Amino acid sequence: MPATPRVNALQKLWLREIGIEKTWLPAGPVAAAAAPSPEARGAAEPESAPRPAAAPAPVPRPAVAAAAAPGPAAAPPAAAPTRPAARPAAVAKPPAPAPADAPVPATVPVPAHDLEAMREQVVQCTACGLCNGRRHAVFGMGARPARWMVVGEAPGEQEDRQGLPFVGRSGQLLDAMLASVGMSREKDVFIANVIKCRPPGNRNPKPEEIAACSPYLMRQIELLKPERILVLGRFAAQTLLGTDATIGSLRGRRHTLAAPDGREIPVVVSYHPAYLLRSPGEKARAWQDLRLAAALG
Ligand code: SF4
Repeated sequence: MPATPRVNALQKLWLREIGIEKTWLPAGPVAAAAAPSPEARGAAEPESAPRPAAAPAPVPRPAVAAAAAPGPAAAPPAAAPTRPAARPAAVAKPPAPAPADAPVPATVPVPAHDLEAMREQVVQCTACGLCNGRRHAVFGMGARPARWMVVGEAPGEQEDRQGLPFVGRSGQLLDAMLASVGMSREKDVFIANVIKCRPPGNRNPKPEEIAACSPYLMRQIELLKPERILVLGRFAAQTLLGTDATIGSLRGRRHTLAAPDGREIPVVVSYHPAYLLRSPGEKARAWQDLRLAAALG
């Protein structure tokens, strides 16, 4: 008989929101045999389809040296590890090198060695064309030091207006998700995006934009030294882990990111809150991902 996990008041609220009126949690698989589903920016795109060529195309990402748990990219979710704390058996591997014809940004910034200095650098950055359409660059916000980092993809309209990550309904849902595992952006979590300026029309960032902006995120990870990283959304997961695997095959298991200081940071992938708002049926899986992230040692 498996042990019955205890559920606190916040977790009960979260469970109620996703339609589970139980005060206990089934000890079932984390990664159920998920049917392919669309993701935040690719709502109409089947999950099994590869990301647009622009997105995961490996780009110069100096701090991302490895992505662990490289199970078969196209394997069905049911084949993924099922226990939240299970370590992958496979050895971490570095992301593939950039293809020779990959666009190279005119200027790849060298991020400052201090978060406040880097914030100013980002606000004034013109290293890629996204600076032309932004209202505000979104550097990130949250606790320092940060136990967790949450990494999203790029600012949306509200984030661009306010200069803050994950605001509006998506931000509220993210805060509720974090609270369900005892975390908050005020005390425990720093939130940032892969891309700091809003792509027009919320399109996927181009490879040269990712190449230009990625050094900022990598330096944020280097400076904040989070215990673990929760990556939200297909685009962010594919970019950070250097893969074009589907989110269904990436979520529900532990990955590893090699930090510049040699530390291996556990990474968990889950759905973007904007996607969960459109597809509330997936909140149960997001809850499983949060449990996995909280259980990682
Ligand atoms: Fe600079 Fe990043 Fe904004 Fe491009 S998206 S202008 S690289 S801060």
